[in-house]
Amino acid sequence: MDQYATDVLSEPLSAGPQWLALRDGVPDVWTRYTDLIIERGSGSWLETVDGERYLDYTSGIGVVSTGHAHPRVAAAIAAQASKLIHGQQNIVYHQPGLLLHQRLPRYFPGRAEATLFLSNSGAEAVEAAVKLAKLATRRPAVIAFRGGFHGRTHGTMAFTSSGVKYRGHYEPLLGGVHFAPYPYPLRYGSAEAALRATLDGVEELFATLIYPDDVAAFLVEPVLGEGGYVVPPDGFLPALREIADRHGILLIADEVQSGFGRTGRFFASEWTDAVPDVVVMAKGIASGMPLSGIMAARSLMDKFTPGAHGGTYGGNAVACAAALATLDVIEDEGLVANAERQGARLLAGLRAAAADHAHVAEVRGRGLMIAVELADPATLAPRPDLAKAILHEAFDRKLLLLTCGTYGNVVRVIPPLVTTDEEVDLAVEVIGQALASV
Ligand code: PLP
Repeated sequence: MDQYATDVLSEPLSAGPQWLALRDGVPDVWTRYTDLIIERGSGSWLETVDGERYLDYTSGIGVVSTGHAHPRVAAAIAAQASKLIHGQQNIVYHQPGLLLHQRLPRYFPGRAEATLFLSNSGAEAVEAAVKLAKLATRRPAVIAFRGGFHGRTHGTMAFTSSGVKYRGHYEPLLGGVHFAPYPYPLRYGSAEAALRATLDGVEELFATLIYPDDVAAFLVEPVLGEGGYVVPPDGFLPALREIADRHGILLIADEVQSGFGRTGRFFASEWTDAVPDVVVMAKGIASGMPLSGIMAARSLMDKFTPGAHGGTYGGNAVACAAALATLDVIEDEGLVANAERQGARLLAGLRAAAADHAHVAEVRGRGLMIAVELADPATLAPRPDLAKAILHEAFDRKLLLLTCGTYGNVVRVIPPLVTTDEEVDLAVEVIGQALASV
């Protein structure tokens, strides 16, 4: 199957005439869902240069959890930018950075003691987590999971297996990376069978390819993101935790997409009692300002001796101010609870809308990380053509959606966490109409 998830809306869908020519300056490597030229956003809505409004259930790929241009976040950015934009971490401290280093670790899963290292993008934070694990354990290998996505840097694409486009033609990649199956209940027939396949896969790696005491870390998404919005069986993370403890392996939870309330818990790991050693964060952390980070116990973080890692922009002052305001909004507006509540509403609505459609293999999700998987009813063969058609139909009705999954056959629904009952109902209605018309 050569259908790339991000190619699904390659035909131009809309254009603000005076801007058309300027679009040629943007290289084609940015595959594009729409040709919309956006002037402003507010809450769950985007407005084009032509004044058209779209319900944005992409959240800029899961980033604008507080909604577009939340006034409190925008005000914090403006206030900080007028005082200090960049105060480099190796040279000075700045107030928003100090406050964030104090505040964010309180959200570590299990409320365990933790400390924070800040970076800029999700991939950079994954790199930091794996470098830390290697330093701390002095072991060479990493076990990642099939279908996982961890970034596009030269290091992180080696951990990524959600699609060949992310790593094909870039070989040789980082060595010492092994893959076990991700427990994908639909694909294995049941949650139990999926978990069994994963645990057998890990045991097989230990028996055939790598000794456990050469493995520095498991690198895992608590809910599979780009690979198809797959909610694993409840026993998955606890089972990994147990294997990790038995062999001195560190457990790295990549919460880049699932963190900051997205799944109805602050971190998706918190749906279980398995506490990871390292949590990787980005996307929802700063409402759209480039910021990422990792958290780990101080005893582990201290393995990063001075100079062992760093970067010019990590912990940028304006981004830290945005992150502090983001935490304020998440707390004051009850966004984690809203994600759980609206997620349940959306899931129930979509399940009802999909009930009569044989090609909907599954509607699944956790919080506001929701997937509608399209497949052939008899064989479960992926149907990216249907996912693409649904996106087109939704777009025509001014609802923005994305796809995910290795074959692009999963419609992914990621509203901002501020979304309302009315918006959820509108999206369900539109997706129901889209399903009916394909
Ligand atoms: N990890 C996960 C789980 C992601 O979903 C992503 C991006 O989608 C990344 C890492 C990479 O983040 P970035 O694109 O900010 O480098």
